[in-house]
Amino acid sequence: MNAFRASSVAEELRGAGLRVTAARVALLETVREGGHLDAEVITSGVRERVGHISRQAVYEALNALTAAGLVRRVEPPGSPALYEGRVGDNHHHLVCRSCGVVVDVDCAVGHAPCLTASDGRGFSIDEAEVVYWGLCPDCSSAP
Ligand SMILES: [Zn+2]
Ligand SMILES: [Zn+2]
Repeated sequence: MNAFRASSVAEELRGAGLRVTAARVALLETVREGGHLDAEVITSGVRERVGHISRQAVYEALNALTAAGLVRRVEPPGSPALYEGRVGDNHHHLVCRSCGVVVDVDCAVGHAPCLTASDGRGFSIDEAEVVYWGLCPDCSSAP
């Protein structure tokens, strides 16, 4: 069962033109199981799967997978970069000012309308980063 899952992840890596390594497979699995994880949490997830691996190797794999579009990097201002496995749909994020929880939210209306800038200035736009800030339900109901 695990072997099947691992090999399909390997297929995806190959399909994205990446060399398949145990670290990259473990990293993609870790990111997909989590919601929005920072590099520290990802490093421990990868180590749980493949044993010791240097931080440098994890960062290298993160960069390669992000560049290949298998992992998305989210950078809420004031927070460390977070990585997630939900890619390609230009969804946005809700961030709680109090506890820092990050939640996915679909595009405001229809399919990626935020990509249609009122004036694109000739850019070929492929991503619109929108962060909604506020208080999560837990924090807003706290006394
Ligand atoms: Zn909160
Ligand atoms: Zn997300």
